[in-house]
Amino acid sequence: MNNSIFEMVTSGIKEGSFFPQIQSCVLPIFLQEFKGYTLFYAPGTLIATDAYQSEKMIIDLKKNNVQSIFAKQIRNKAEMAKRRFDLQHQIPPFNPYCLTLYTSSDCNLNCSYCYSGKRDYKNKVDLNLESIRKGAEIVAAACQKASIPMSVVFHGGGEPLIDPHLPEILACVEEIAINYALQISSYVATNGVISEETANWAADHIDQFGLSCDGYPDIQDQQRPGKNGEKSSLFVERTAAILNKKGKKFSIRATITEETYLQIPEIIKYCCGKLFAKEIYLEPIFSGLNQKTDNGFSVNDAANFCSQFLKGKELAIENGATVEFCGSRMNEIHGRYCQVFRHVLQLIPGGDISACFKTSGKNTAKFDERLIGRNQEGDWNWDHLFETGKKLSIDDPSCYQCFNRFHCARGCPDICPLTGGPDHGSFRCLMNKIMTGYSLLETADEFLLPMISDHQIVGMEI
Ligand code: SF4
Ligand code: SF4
Repeated sequence: MNNSIFEMVTSGIKEGSFFPQIQSCVLPIFLQEFKGYTLFYAPGTLIATDAYQSEKMIIDLKKNNVQSIFAKQIRNKAEMAKRRFDLQHQIPPFNPYCLTLYTSSDCNLNCSYCYSGKRDYKNKVDLNLESIRKGAEIVAAACQKASIPMSVVFHGGGEPLIDPHLPEILACVEEIAINYALQISSYVATNGVISEETANWAADHIDQFGLSCDGYPDIQDQQRPGKNGEKSSLFVERTAAILNKKGKKFSIRATITEETYLQIPEIIKYCCGKLFAKEIYLEPIFSGLNQKTDNGFSVNDAANFCSQFLKGKELAIENGATVEFCGSRMNEIHGRYCQVFRHVLQLIPGGDISACFKTSGKNTAKFDERLIGRNQEGDWNWDHLFETGKKLSIDDPSCYQCFNRFHCARGCPDICPLTGGPDHGSFRCLMNKIMTGYSLLETADEFLLPMISDHQIVGMEI
């Protein structure tokens, strides 16, 4: 990690002077002084200029009819980002291309931060096959119309791989894809605490895996124990070994808490050295239901979290792996994680359709308006879906001018427009800003500044 760049980013953000939008330019084009040069940024492109070219560029960008190639290029990128973001957040239409199934509320772990509500092991609720079939038909029809492959995701809220119906469910969805002449890919988010037999079955039948592991055994066993307090780490290691042996693609999903964020480099070492992970996602723990359970992080922790993250990222690169986090993804135009904007049809136990990944069952749904219909009865509440989509697309006014607004999940999932609260200034807001800001300055430092003395103005796609 480059400490001086990190310091520049965090202090610039703190002072509110980091990559402001160019005044009187209607497009989202942002400007930052850096090591004696000027950086111009719009999603997808970064340009560095000397003082003379910077002045010319600013004048050019304010005109309706831009002259220079660089000004044209950055304007195009800014227009494209704005268009794509607006389109993404426009409902109707809602065309689901991915079927996400929370097949059962049953789970074999007792994670300290479980967002599925208080575990009710006795009264498990399932998602019946009829409902799944109807959902798969809707998604398959939308995929066929758009000529794109179909995907099915088996997600938590319970542990999908301990659901005895999973082989039957997968076969049913695959059969529907075949009927629509579609290719299909499958993904499961698993806690990895499964029998050898199940792990082998999964490796043979499912394409990709998100394997939850919060770190080395001391952390994993404390944060993600079994129902009766059993250690889970040995199971996770065995599952990772089976997936590796069978050459399956998997990513590690580690939930990072207030107690573990200073251990991020050690967590990465474990994931690379013991689980042989090639892709690791670190996610700060999110607040519980209805924002009642705080995630424990304060805004003052954001910079420390990011610096640990960046150290972890370096270690991962040394081990041929990548480390990402979902809040700010520079290679995508995105906002919050709402399923309605990602064209995902999410069915939860009992057969309801949810607009939110966090709503995994009845007990988590009762607090809010995130249920948008009941698939089982073919009873889609379109009005409610569109109304919910409209509310979820509302931005915090403080985000309107932010350089990161096209690559930011806002305060989601801690802060949600359905329950209120400002995104701007939250722990996640700061993290998202720092991560993107650091990436921009690091890229400029590494690639653009070494070339600028010869050219006065240089740019690159990012
Ligand atoms: S914004 Fe709200 S509904 Fe959307 S994903 Fe986040 S928590 Fe869920
Ligand atoms: S929440 Fe995201 S878009 Fe809004 S101010 Fe923070 S970083 Fe920018």
